[in-house]
Amino acid sequence: MPDRPKNVVVLGSTGSIGRSTLEVISGSCGSLRAYALSAHVNTATLLEQAKTVRPRQIIVTDPQAAARQDWSELPRETELAVGSEAVAEVVAAPEVEIVVSAVVGSAGLHGTWAALAAGKTVALANKESLVIGGALITRLAKKHGAAILPVDSEHSAVFQALQAGRADEVRRVILTASGGPFRTYSEDQLSAVTVADALDHPTWDMGRKITIDSATLMNKALEIIEARWLFDLRPEQIGVVIHPQSIVHSLVEFIDGSVIAQMSVPDMKLPIQYALCWPHRKQGLVKSLNWEQVMRLDFEPPDFERFAALRLGLEVARLGGTAGAVLNAANETAVEAFLAGELAFCDIVPLVQDVLKHHHFDPNPSFDQLLAADRWARQEALRWVCA
Ligand code: MG
Repeated sequence: MPDRPKNVVVLGSTGSIGRSTLEVISGSCGSLRAYALSAHVNTATLLEQAKTVRPRQIIVTDPQAAARQDWSELPRETELAVGSEAVAEVVAAPEVEIVVSAVVGSAGLHGTWAALAAGKTVALANKESLVIGGALITRLAKKHGAAILPVDSEHSAVFQALQAGRADEVRRVILTASGGPFRTYSEDQLSAVTVADALDHPTWDMGRKITIDSATLMNKALEIIEARWLFDLRPEQIGVVIHPQSIVHSLVEFIDGSVIAQMSVPDMKLPIQYALCWPHRKQGLVKSLNWEQVMRLDFEPPDFERFAALRLGLEVARLGGTAGAVLNAANETAVEAFLAGELAFCDIVPLVQDVLKHHHFDPNPSFDQLLAADRWARQEALRWVCA
């Protein structure tokens, strides 16, 4: 290990993963340093973070939000930059070693892309980057010798378990899902779900978008696609099992029938720390599982009828091309409409399915064609909402 601290850029530092990342950095006994932080509009929190961690630079990607904030308390050693071009610049700085991509949604693609193009290691929390452009992103990383390390808890678990064998010894990967707050709901109950019901997640404390995605199981659909690209798996090698306790974060089955699981209390600081310190393990900030008390671990197969998002995830993982961009954009639009009270909970997944069905599939899109597919899917989804 080098004795100087590893310089970390945290893109999306004011969100749930970003805040946990800063806790991991401050608990690293000086082995990690926050070099730069970025936020889109939450400038007040970004300023507070800058006063605490004193990074070299902070970036506000929304110029209007930057203009509204009083920056007189910004530490003298911290430079303020505005606009998304500043993100591409800072991730390429020679002293930066690792970039945490923790912006939510398709907005995170830009920073992930820039960091990989600069050959940096990316700790990827933004699953949308791989959902939208998995083929291009993994090709880009290979070309520039950049590594993508998973931060998503399931993928961190798979990544850890994979170290028990060789790639050609893997039979399948099983992603665990808590099942969300509506795991046991009937179709009738699902049709009456309100925004407040959906935002109340039983085990994980996350942002609004991902909490809704967990309730529809669209989050697991996105994770199936993410796993397909991250670990170069065939879609038929990826399974999902419902595990309500969220203790086993995922499993890998090898060709001899052995299954290796990664377990811990549910706390995102662990996968974040694993990605930031990899290939080493460090003293954790996360408490141990309590083996002195009775612990139950339940596993049950998911219901593909009530939670049709899972089938969409497998289908899009198989299709590749523009399908991921369309699925993701339609879902982001649908979730926003649901949170705004303009769409029923049980219409989120049918909307996404419908937009997917009507899109003009391109098996081998360029980056610009992916962005065009994303724009088309948003318009199409909005038409659906207004219809
Ligand atoms: Mg996850």
